[in-house]
Amino acid sequence: MKALVTGAAGFIGSTLCGRLIESGAEVTGIDCFTDYYPRPLKERNLAGLRKARGFTFVEQALAKANLDDLLHGVTHVFHLAAQAGVRKSWGRDFGVYTVNNVEASQILLEACVGKPIERFVYASSSSVYGDEVAMPMREDARPQPVSPYGVTKLAAEQLCYLYHVNHSVPTVSLRYFTVYGPRQRPDMGFSRFFAAVLRDEPITMFGDGRQTRDFTFVADAVSATVHAATRGKPGGVYNIGGGSRVELLDVFELIRLVTGRPLKIERLDAQRGDMRDTYADTTHARADLGFAPTVTLEQGLRAQYEWITSIDAK
Ligand code: NAD
Repeated sequence: MKALVTGAAGFIGSTLCGRLIESGAEVTGIDCFTDYYPRPLKERNLAGLRKARGFTFVEQALAKANLDDLLHGVTHVFHLAAQAGVRKSWGRDFGVYTVNNVEASQILLEACVGKPIERFVYASSSSVYGDEVAMPMREDARPQPVSPYGVTKLAAEQLCYLYHVNHSVPTVSLRYFTVYGPRQRPDMGFSRFFAAVLRDEPITMFGDGRQTRDFTFVADAVSATVHAATRGKPGGVYNIGGGSRVELLDVFELIRLVTGRPLKIERLDAQRGDMRDTYADTTHARADLGFAPTVTLEQGLRAQYEWITSIDAK
């Protein structure tokens, strides 16, 4: 496999690059270090990879990169680059989301036309669903995102489908459900919760705490992504959810257990754009990709906590 991974310095992208290199693939990673969170965290994600044989890193925005050169000889594209995060996608910041999530995806897809690529795997999101779909969420439900971020992730998913149907680019879209574990972005819930506990500060809880999420450990999300590159049906869309659907209040209990520290909770109003619940029907991913999540929420939280305390100790 000769892979191009976009968003290679990010949380999931860097973990995916590591897995691909371990399996003997030749990997080019591209990332432009958007300022959504600090560059040193992304450099830390890349540190091991930069020394790995078979890994090449290109610092560039997709729109500015020489994609024909980068795609030369590439058999598999993993498109994870995006402006992530739901809450910042309102207002004037929306332009950042359309540029990085929609326009950059179209530019990359266009560059793939006519090239002998075996799969183009796109990192979509459970955010495409919104609050109107039945639980568990099935891929054929009508998506109605409740955040501008979700709209851009859905738009890029539709572009993937268009480029498959019109130009035979073998796209496979994976709707990741809340991914967590070592390297998780600092704006995401578990990262914020652990950071607050370690500083003995209150955890900010938006809403009543009864909202639910289907959490997916990063190693399981990466396994699904690797399998999608060989087994995903071109033009297909798959839910990737870890099967650990829990209420936020139960997450707090687990965090108390894992850290052994008391939690102080500060309650704020629910945020615009946050979905009430997510819960993946993974029937298709199980059948086609052999997806079988292996890490329980407690195990995954322990792994994330160990990672945080180990980097804090350095
Ligand atoms: P991340 O922010 O850690 O990684 C994304 C990376 O993409 C960043 O390093 C950023 O610098 C880079 N990037 C953004 N725009 C770029 C551009 N135009 N050119 C080059 N690089 C660019 O985010 P993550 O949590 O690792 O998410 C990875 C992907 O998975 C994203 O597409 C995200 O939408 C999707 N996703 C993530 C989750 C989750 O729970 N983390 C859930 C659903 C979907």
